[in-house]
Parts: sequence; structure tokens; C-alpha cells
Amino acid sequence: MHSQSGTTFKFVGGKGVRTTEVLIVPLVAKPRSPMQLVSAVDAVCDDAVSELLEVGAIGEELGHRAHTTRGGAYKRILVVSLGEREKLDCQKVRKAAASAAGWLIAERIAETALWVDGLAASGVEGATAEWAGGMARAGFRFAEHKEPDKKAVEKIRVHVRSSESGHADHTLPQIRDAVTIEAAVNYARRLAHQPANVIHPASLAAEARRLAQQLKLKCTVLETAQLRRMGMNGLVAVGQGAKHGPRLIRLDYRGARDARTTTVLVGKAITFDTGGYSIKPAKGMEGLKFDKCGGVTVLGVMKAAATLKLKCNLVGIIAAAENAISERAYRPGDILKMASGKTVEVISTDAEGRLILADALWYAQKHCQPTALIDLATLTGGVGIALGQAAAGLMSNDDSLAADLGECGRRTHERLWRLPLWEDYRELIKGTDADIKNAAGKQEAHAIVGGMFLKEFVSDDVPWAHLDIASVAITESENAGGGKGATGFGVRLLIEYLRRRIS
Ligand SMILES: [Zn+2]
Repeated sequence: MHSQSGTTFKFVGGKGVRTTEVLIVPLVAKPRSPMQLVSAVDAVCDDAVSELLEVGAIGEELGHRAHTTRGGAYKRILVVSLGEREKLDCQKVRKAAASAAGWLIAERIAETALWVDGLAASGVEGATAEWAGGMARAGFRFAEHKEPDKKAVEKIRVHVRSSESGHADHTLPQIRDAVTIEAAVNYARRLAHQPANVIHPASLAAEARRLAQQLKLKCTVLETAQLRRMGMNGLVAVGQGAKHGPRLIRLDYRGARDARTTTVLVGKAITFDTGGYSIKPAKGMEGLKFDKCGGVTVLGVMKAAATLKLKCNLVGIIAAAENAISERAYRPGDILKMASGKTVEVISTDAEGRLILADALWYAQKHCQPTALIDLATLTGGVGIALGQAAAGLMSNDDSLAADLGECGRRTHERLWRLPLWEDYRELIKGTDADIKNAAGKQEAHAIVGGMFLKEFVSDDVPWAHLDIASVAITESENAGGGKGATGFGVRLLIEYLRRRIS
């Protein structure tokens, strides 16, 4: 991996310990850590930690760093604040870890030790693994189109240390899993950042093939002619204006051949969304390359599930198209006969995501026998109006699936909030000259209208959930633990879902 793609972290156990230059010590700031805990780490760094604590250098602010060059066998000690114990959760542990990772990267340190007693005593379940994941995430950098930074450290080795013998080795498998998942998150983020002249439906399909080959997955790609033959006119219409036509990409992972369950994920990948003839405003249009985030998250989940060798059956489907303007592009007013047989009047060519997803959901039900069907899409601006950046919108026809996903969202801090799909909203998509229309033509219940539209294409007896990730797939905030831009939202959430289904 090149430094343009950021920094990776390799966590190693306590055997064959040798002293590194730097010792990182995460500690809860309030209340003060117990004497016993502090004296254990003091023993290896000549009381440097208690000296920092005494002068109040640790700070109650989460991720605050206190630093000394007087550390016995270590040249430097870095105490990282976990803030208030009362308020601490997995996300805050990850943020503090990102602060430490940022410091290591800036200081160009290739090898470090991590004292994990403070994490183990933090009261947060799996805190050490969360920390490792937070560091791995923070190594993300999208700079492959820039001149390489020759001095950047590509890989940082982290020696896990603890006063309890065996603790470090014991947590290492969880740490490695967390790092594996985060590598898949960063893979999805990297793809998301690629501009539309690099990632278009054809090159996204090629990327999926590459991934499938690497992970020994089955990969199927349907192109325009086949899509047309199968009647998937929603996907065809949206993609027909672009030079690279639409693709339906399918990846199959079979980790539990005997199991009767198959989770099918469907991701929206509009590689660039001009809005079509219902054109978007120019301001911020460059950000519409991120309209493929649902699709790349599906690739990230496939990568993580296969690398972790999860004992589950998983199908990933990506509906890929570029919503372009040209003489071949579809128009407002067009009536499309979808694969399911339903007809749709196009009110807005910018409500294209639901058109491609509708056909992909139909395909999933017809060809993949899903026992759970979950779609992810940057579908509506309306979901951000409703929930802001704190949660993705969850809509579902199945209470138990919705509850499961909600719980996974709480655990991973990729939170979901359920919105209703009541019959009352059906009126908003009732067609004039066709069965239904793809937009209500007004602001009312914007995110829900998207869900209501998709529901038209899902059989009542298939447990289905729609995740509208439009407001959480990208962030403007620098301190979200890994910088601005794509978040890879959904990878950790869905891996948690798959793992909980197995155990
Ligand atoms: Zn659009």
C-alpha cells in the first residue's frame, strides 16, 4: 500500500517485547484513574505518567494529548485522554484513538507501544478493539492523484502492552478483526472519493471483479443489453444518457453452505448525479460523485465478510449508473415499465436512485431468495432535514429486522432512526398517467416518499429494510475520526448485523 492511500496499523502481541520510542497511554481523565492502574504503567516509564497526571496535563477534553520526553526506557510518553468515564462510549474511544493516530502520523513514527490497561478498565465493552479500529480508520488518506509524500509512514507497528500477563495476546484476535473491518471501511471510502472520470459503471464493475477474484467470490455483471432483455428499464433509463452504460453488479459470498438464510444487500451507485434534465444547482455539484456511497459500502461489506470468513451467505448487488445529460438521456414525463411490470411516470429525473433500486430489488427477490433484504442509498436530501447527521433513516416492512438493525446501529454508533411507511403516504406517489410516479413534486415527507416508492417493488413476505444514508455517507467535520468526506457508513453496521445473526 502506498502512502498516498494513507497509513495502515499493524497490531502485534507482547511476546518478544522490545522497547519502542513511544508509549501511548489512553486514560480516563475523570474520575482520576486508580493508583494501581497508574503505578503499573509508571513502572515501565519511570513515573512519567503520574508526573503528567499531577500537573493536570491530561485534560478532560476527549482525545486531548499530553506528552513528555522523560519516560525511562521510552523516549516519549503520550497520554491520551478518554474524557469523562460517565460519558464514554465506543465512538468516543474511537475518536480518542484517532487523535493518537493523527499524532503518530504527523510525527512520522513507524513503531510504537500501546498501554491498554486504561482501555480495559474504561467500562466500554471491547474498548481495546474499538481503539484499534479508531486508529486504523484515522489512517485514511485519499491522495493517490497527488504527488507522493515520500516521508509519510505507510505502516505503523503497534505493540500491545498490558500489566496483566496474557491480556494483550488475549485481545489480539478482536483487535485484528476490528482492523480488518476498518480496512474494508477505508476501501469503501477510497472508492467513494474517486471522481466520476475514474469510477463510472464500467470501471466500478471491473473493481468488483478484481475484489471478487482476490476474495474468491462469484461475480456477475449485467450490461445494458441484458438489463433491457430482463425488462429492467428503470436502471436502463437512468443510465442511458451516459457514455458508460448502466451495470447490475452481483457478488456472491457463501460462507455457510448449509445455512438456510441469505442476506442480500442492494446498494445504489450513481457514479455521478447531474440530476439529469431536472438539473441540480452548480454549487457543490462536485460532491455528487458521492452518490455511489451505498454501492461502495456493499463492496466494503463483501470485503470484510469474506476476509473475516463469516459463516453466513451473503449476496451483494450494486445498481450502477451515471445520471447524465445528453440527447439519449431520459426525460421528465417519460413512462417506464419496470422489471416488476409496474409503470412509473418520471416527475423528476433527479429522483433516479429509486428507479435503479426498484429494479435491483426486483432482481434480488427473483434471483437470490433473500431471507433478509437490505438496501443502502444516498437517496434523499429530506432524510438530512429530518435527522441531520446523527442517524441514517431506516424504513422497513418488518419489525424484527428493523429492531435488529437498530440495535446494531446503537452498538456500532452507525445509528439508524426508523421512519414510518404508512398507507397514508401512498397518495404522494399515486400516478396520473402511470401506476405510480417517482416524486411527489413537493417537499412533504421527502425521505418517506423514497421508501414508499421502493416498497412498491418489495413483496410483503420478504423482510426488507431501506437505509437512507444521504446525510451520513459524507461528513464536513474534520474531527469525525478520519477527516472530511466519505465515511463508509454501513460497513461496520452490517458486519455487526451478520455477526449477530451467526452467534
Ligand atoms: Zn438524483
